[in-house]
Amino acid sequence: MRKQKKRGFTLIELIVVVAILVALLLILVPRLTGFTSTAAEVQCQQTRQKVMEMYNAYQIKGEPVSIEDLLKNKDDEYFISTPKCSSGGEYSVIDIKGLVTLIKCSKHGSTLTGNVDTTPIGVRNTTMGIIDYINSLSGDEKKKIYGANYTNNTSVVEFIKNSLYNGKWPELDPGLVSAAGQGKSKMYLKMCYNNNDIKSPASKENTIVFASTKDDTSWNATMIYDFNRNCWLAPTKSSKNKNISVNNQSWNKLYTSISDWQPVEYSE
Ligand SMILES: [Zn+2]
Repeated sequence: MRKQKKRGFTLIELIVVVAILVALLLILVPRLTGFTSTAAEVQCQQTRQKVMEMYNAYQIKGEPVSIEDLLKNKDDEYFISTPKCSSGGEYSVIDIKGLVTLIKCSKHGSTLTGNVDTTPIGVRNTTMGIIDYINSLSGDEKKKIYGANYTNNTSVVEFIKNSLYNGKWPELDPGLVSAAGQGKSKMYLKMCYNNNDIKSPASKENTIVFASTKDDTSWNATMIYDFNRNCWLAPTKSSKNKNISVNNQSWNKLYTSISDWQPVEYSE
């Protein structure tokens, strides 16, 4: 009878197995790290979303609670476990009555209660509301929520873009852009506040709503909204300035430089 020999791995087999495992790890590790950071972001977003839903639910129920209390999970009353970001991001609340309510994670951005108004008048109200809000913060709050202890038009506008518009400016209706003689280029709706006069209460005179082809925080405008006539203004072929910097401008000062721009005739 043949004796059955219990057989282990030979050295060669072991080397092959180890080599395969190493190869697998090399493939998996970088992909997994990428995946975990995405997963953490999704988790954080969902957490903020849930707190917002809870906040809205209590409002509808007629027993409003503050978002701060919900986030602290005061007396373990609202959630099984206290809402937090798994990447260690810190949550702060921006609540401007009648304008915007959001929870911001220091690592993953913010969640809004609803949509931000992207009409020119809505953008102007938002800008003014944010200016007054920032000015109402104490030094520590300013640092925590706003990320800086100074206020200038770039930092204000960057804050609005990142916290309220999720890092991307609203796009103008292509029909409007074309009616303004700007062809088929994508145009973004942006705002600017007079850098030399950032104080409360924010003034309409110092808030400029404009449009440009750049989705950034530069100040060059190729269309400007006229709140006196409730229409967009755009340069014509014979206009002296085809575009203009809105940086540090007040509306009256700006208006004299674009007096030969024409109202854009367009209705949606
Ligand atoms: Zn987070």
